[in-house]
Amino acid sequence: MMHADDPLGTSKLPDVGTTIFTVMSKLAADHNAINLSQGYPDFPVPTALVDKLDEYTRRGENQYPPMHGIPYLREQIALKTRRCYGETVNPETEITVTSGATEALFVAIHAIVDRDDEVIVFDPAYDAYDPAIRLAGGIVRHLPLQGPDFAIDPDRLRGAVNQKTRAIIVNSPHNPTGAVISREDLDLLASVTDGTRILVISDEVYEHMVFDGAGHQSLLTHPQLRMRGFVVSSFGKTVHATGWKVGYCIAPPALTREFRKVHQFVTFTTHTPTQWALADFLEHHPEHDQQLSGFYQRKRDLLISELADTGFSLSPSAGTYFQLLDYQGLSDQPDTAFVEYLTCEIGVAAIPVSVFYREPPDQQLIRLCFAKHDDTLKEAAARLRRRFP
Ligand code: PMP
Ligand code: GLN
Repeated sequence: MMHADDPLGTSKLPDVGTTIFTVMSKLAADHNAINLSQGYPDFPVPTALVDKLDEYTRRGENQYPPMHGIPYLREQIALKTRRCYGETVNPETEITVTSGATEALFVAIHAIVDRDDEVIVFDPAYDAYDPAIRLAGGIVRHLPLQGPDFAIDPDRLRGAVNQKTRAIIVNSPHNPTGAVISREDLDLLASVTDGTRILVISDEVYEHMVFDGAGHQSLLTHPQLRMRGFVVSSFGKTVHATGWKVGYCIAPPALTREFRKVHQFVTFTTHTPTQWALADFLEHHPEHDQQLSGFYQRKRDLLISELADTGFSLSPSAGTYFQLLDYQGLSDQPDTAFVEYLTCEIGVAAIPVSVFYREPPDQQLIRLCFAKHDDTLKEAAARLRRRFP
């Protein structure tokens, strides 16, 4: 029978609605609220990069580029990987440029997950993982991260792994919590996967936003994990251009071959002039990535100090451009209702954290994005201070 929400009588994702980011950004726009919900900067892309995009577009770089990305960009990504992590990756056989990290994640999952394969994800989990696994026919095993640090629980992980486990998805720095994984976590993953067919998909889109002097622990730097890993990055985050949708995946040659088989039929390739502009920018502004952690740490600290006199409690985010706030004691509402109230009545939009869980724990957390002008952050904090002194 036809159903309003299910016109063909069947849905491959019956429980899936519109992503929280779209929902909250629309609510923010409808109510003219300051939008600290969906993660994107409200400041411009570097001028040098915009100029390059213009230049390469006018130069005529507008036709299909090579399926796995233009050589110039893949070479620059290889150089950047050496610069940042001291690792040598082969641009020809190990790097594939994708239309955002979202595409890379979807492709990696579909390249390796077969019907009834199990994939472990850690909750709260970025919302793109679970549906992609299920569309591939896989079964998602949701493991909660342990508060208050949102760390991986070794016993739980060991207990969840079995013959059917095909992949583990990790995300560090972590959206939405801002937690970062340690060298010990990587060692744990290596020991859990050793001698198995388990692959690791490492979502590292916030790799250049790690605070308080801690370095980013890329999977690429772990020799055992590197051999079984897809490492996913996004230029959207690093050059303040989330709408450009260019990312990439680094994986050993055998995994890259499988990845490209799927990639060529998902998007085939990625917007040509943007690839040229990014390659040129990487070559001439290698310092850009290096200053991002400091840049965002200042914004995190500004937001935290502006919220100091409110009833929210928090522990400073260790990475990403997100800060969690605990509103226990300020309201009994569940987080989904609380963010609606904040957006509609206080004029500040945020993301409820419960939506990233299969089984939300008893906690009252919301996520704020601090990739915003200082004035935007100050005004948002002032609104929260007035209501929750
Ligand atoms: N993974 C995580 C954890 C993210 O926060 C995002 C950002 N939106 C993505 C993947 C997707 O990145 P992109 O916009 O490059 O597709
Ligand atoms: N990753 C962004 C966030 O966490 C949003 C991405 C999206 O809107 N799909 O806010």
